[in-house]
Amino acid sequence: MEINIKFMLQAFHNASFRVKFCLGISTILLPLVIFAGGTFYALENLAASYHETTEEVIEEIPPVSQLKTLVFLAQMPPNDYLINHNPEEKKTFSYFVQQIDQNMTSLKETSFDHPAEQTLATLVIQSWENGKQLAAELFAIHSPAKNTGANQLMKDFDEQLNRCTWALDQLELFAFKEIREAQEHTEKNIASIRLSLAGTLIVGLLLAILSGLLLAKSVLAPLKMLSQGAAQISRGEFEPINYPAHNEFGAVIAAFNSMSVSLQKVQTDLKELAMRDGLTGLLNRREFEHLLAQELDRAKRGQNSVSLILLDIDHFKQVNDNHGHQVGDEVLRNLAKLLAKQIRTMDHLARYGGEEFVVIAPTDITTALNIAERIRHAVEISPQQDYQQKSFKVTVSLGISSFPASADKREELIRKADEALYRAKQSGRNQTCLYETPEKNT
Ligand code: GH3
Ligand code: MG
Ligand code: MG
Repeated sequence: MEINIKFMLQAFHNASFRVKFCLGISTILLPLVIFAGGTFYALENLAASYHETTEEVIEEIPPVSQLKTLVFLAQMPPNDYLINHNPEEKKTFSYFVQQIDQNMTSLKETSFDHPAEQTLATLVIQSWENGKQLAAELFAIHSPAKNTGANQLMKDFDEQLNRCTWALDQLELFAFKEIREAQEHTEKNIASIRLSLAGTLIVGLLLAILSGLLLAKSVLAPLKMLSQGAAQISRGEFEPINYPAHNEFGAVIAAFNSMSVSLQKVQTDLKELAMRDGLTGLLNRREFEHLLAQELDRAKRGQNSVSLILLDIDHFKQVNDNHGHQVGDEVLRNLAKLLAKQIRTMDHLARYGGEEFVVIAPTDITTALNIAERIRHAVEISPQQDYQQKSFKVTVSLGISSFPASADKREELIRKADEALYRAKQSGRNQTCLYETPEKNT
C-alpha cells in the first residue's frame, strides 16, 4: 500500500504539466458533473412523483366535489315532497339521481391508493344506493304528510344522505391530505438537494483549492529552483539543480544545468586566459603581482622568507635583429619551458614583460641564489636554433631580492630585484646579482 502511494506520488511528480493540468481540472469538474447528474436525476424523480400524486388527486377531487353538491341538492326534493306533496319533486329527484349515478360510475372507476379511501368510496356508493331506495319508497306514498311511515322513511333517507355527504367530505379531506403529504415530501427532498448542493460546492471548492495549490506547487517549485540556480550562477557558484522529474520542467532544468556547466567552463577558460600570457602560456604580470602579494602575506604570517628572481635575456634586441622577430618569439617560448623545468612546485613562474621573466620562490635568499644559478647555467648550455637550423646561444642576467632581508613591501621587493638585475647587466651579463649579500642576510 505504502509502495503504491509512493509509486503514485512519483508518477505524479514525473507527469507532464499538461497531464497535471488535466488531472487538476478533472478533479474539480468530476464531482460537479456527478453532482449535476445526480441532482438532475433526483429532481426528475421528485417532479414525476409530485406530478403523479397531484394528477391522482386532481382526478379524484372533481367527482367527489360534484357529488357532494349533487347529494346536498338531492336531499331537498324528498323533503319538499313530504311537506307539500308536489309530484314535480319526484321528477326533480329523478334528475339528481341520473346526475349522481353518472358521477358514482366515475367514482367506482377511480382506483384509490389507500384502503381507507376505498372503504369511504364504498360507503358513499352504499349510502347513496340506500338513500335512493328510501326516496323511491317515499315517493311511492301518495299523501306522505300525515303518514308516520313516511316521516320515518324521510329520517332514514336524510341519515343515509348525510352519511354519504360525510364520506364524501372524508374523501375530499383525504385528497387534500395527499396533496399536503406530496408537498411536504417535495419540500423535504428539495431541502436535502439544497444540502447536498452546498456540500458538493464546499467539496468542489476544497478540491479546486487543493488541486490549484498542487498545480501551483508543481509549477512554482521548479521555477523557484531555477531562480535560485540563476542567483547562484550570478554569485559564481555552479551547483547543478537537483530536479529528477522527467517532465517539461525536468527538461528545462536539465537544459539549465548543461548551460551552467558550459558557463562554468567558459568562466574557467576566461579566468585562465586572463591569468596567462598569450605567447609563452606562463602566468602574466597581473597574476604575478597578485601571487607575490599572497606569498608575502603568507611569509609575514609564518615568519618565513620569500625571494624574487628577476631575469632578462642578454642582448635580445640582437636576437631579433639577427634572426628575426619570430625566432625571437620561439626563443621566448623555449626559455619559458626551460624555466618551468628548473623551478620547484612551490615556486611561481611568470612573464614579467617583453623578454623579462620572474620567479617567486617562497624561500630564503641562499636557496633563491641556487635556483637562479641553476637557471642561468641551464640557459647558457641550451643552444637555440634559427631559420636555417643554425645554433646560437642566449644568456640571461638575474637579479634577486628577498623578504625580509631586502624589503617588506611588494613594490620595493620588485624595485630591488630590478636594481640587482641592473647590476648583473652592468657587471658583464650572464650572471646573478643579489640586492643583499647572503652573508648580510644571515
Ligand atoms: P640587454 O642585455 O641590456 O637586456 O639588451 P637587450 O637587447 O635585451 O635590451 P632590452 O632588454 O632593452 O631589449 C628588449 C628587446 O626585446 C626589445 C624588443 O624588441 C624585444 N622584445 C620584447 N618583447 C618581445 C616579444 O614578445 N618578441 C620578440 N621577438 N621580441 C621582443
Ligand atoms: Mg629587457
Ligand atoms: Mg634584455
